[in-house]
Amino acid sequence: GQCILVCPVGALAGRNNIEDAMDLIYNPELITVVQFAPAVRTAMGEEFNMAKGENVEAKMITALKRLGVDVVLDTNFAADLVIMEEGSELLHRLKNKGTLPMFTSCCPGWVNFVEKNYPEMTPNISTTSSPQQCLGAMAKTYLAEKMDLDPDRIRVISIMPCTAKKGEAQRPEFQRNGRPDVDVVLTTREFSRLLKREGLDLAKLEDSQFDNPWMTDYSGAAVIFGNTGGVMEAAVRTVHKLVTGNELDAVEYTDLRGDALRREATVDLGPALGEVKLAVVHTLKEARRLMDEIKSGNSPYGFVEVMACPGGCQGGGGQPRSKHSYHGTARERSQGIYNIDKNRTIRQSHNNPMIKRLYADFLKKPLGHKSHELLHTTYRDRRRRINHSMHEIWKEIEERS
Ligand code: SF4
Repeated sequence: GQCILVCPVGALAGRNNIEDAMDLIYNPELITVVQFAPAVRTAMGEEFNMAKGENVEAKMITALKRLGVDVVLDTNFAADLVIMEEGSELLHRLKNKGTLPMFTSCCPGWVNFVEKNYPEMTPNISTTSSPQQCLGAMAKTYLAEKMDLDPDRIRVISIMPCTAKKGEAQRPEFQRNGRPDVDVVLTTREFSRLLKREGLDLAKLEDSQFDNPWMTDYSGAAVIFGNTGGVMEAAVRTVHKLVTGNELDAVEYTDLRGDALRREATVDLGPALGEVKLAVVHTLKEARRLMDEIKSGNSPYGFVEVMACPGGCQGGGGQPRSKHSYHGTARERSQGIYNIDKNRTIRQSHNNPMIKRLYADFLKKPLGHKSHELLHTTYRDRRRRINHSMHEIWKEIEERS
């Protein structure tokens, strides 16, 4: 089908990711685990003529169950986990004079951009893996243990707003024992096509609730990952608590919200750490400006969130193609995301009971031994070297042979 044109894996193998996903789901030998990202649920309804910005999470769960998926999990759970690790990492860097500003790491469009254009700044990127990858790693270890499943039989399928997430899932850093943590990535549009092909009209499905008791609960902080500024706002809610022992008075950190390509705020982390300046950036054009400022030593920031797509993931390249401009549908998707946060009883990642249990039963503590092994990653210089001397080229060939 037409997907071959947009999907590099499909182009090579002569097939597409929709077929890959269906093969896994229909294979009785395998246990399929599906996760979907925060921004998918307030955009996917557009493909089925539903109201813009409507939260279709409950209908997506029904659709996945009808398809025969064994376990339906939420990437939001892993977003809360990312905040625990990344927030602790920020504090560790601040206390130990580590590399600052720290950059968020959950957007592969941004991570690739740094590796290709500013490789000397890869140490600034948080080592915490993205929610997609953290969920994959936890499904094949923690969940396998809890559900008494053979990890070799588990396959993880993601539904993402993003085409860059396909490349992220294939990085060698995210392979364990010869298998990737995330096996197949579908975009929101591809998943919509899959449902239509299977004769499922999302708009007509009844609502269902998540039923997995280990990796589905999420806080309001997790779901706002789908909007530009959301990761930062979620991190502030938790870092504030970790440092001061108190919850933030105003949970909604409105300075970090909005459309401006760069927003700034300052958070007071008490007498020991002082004030930390925060920046939220979206689009790579603005990211380049910011990087040049940091390089020239003119940057006051301690922590920076960057999302490659305009508006963050809700405006991602794999989302429904709206007939309206960014300031049309995207605003409704974004409002939909903030409404979910507002209506959650638990608004902070550290208060998610399933996250508390994951640490108590399995990870023990943020930045601990297991976290390092399963939830943190490394980055590399991906600039193409075109100025090799013959001597260097021969040396490389010798080393490889
Ligand atoms: Fe993907 Fe865009 Fe979200 Fe980055 S901002 S993770 S490129 S959808």
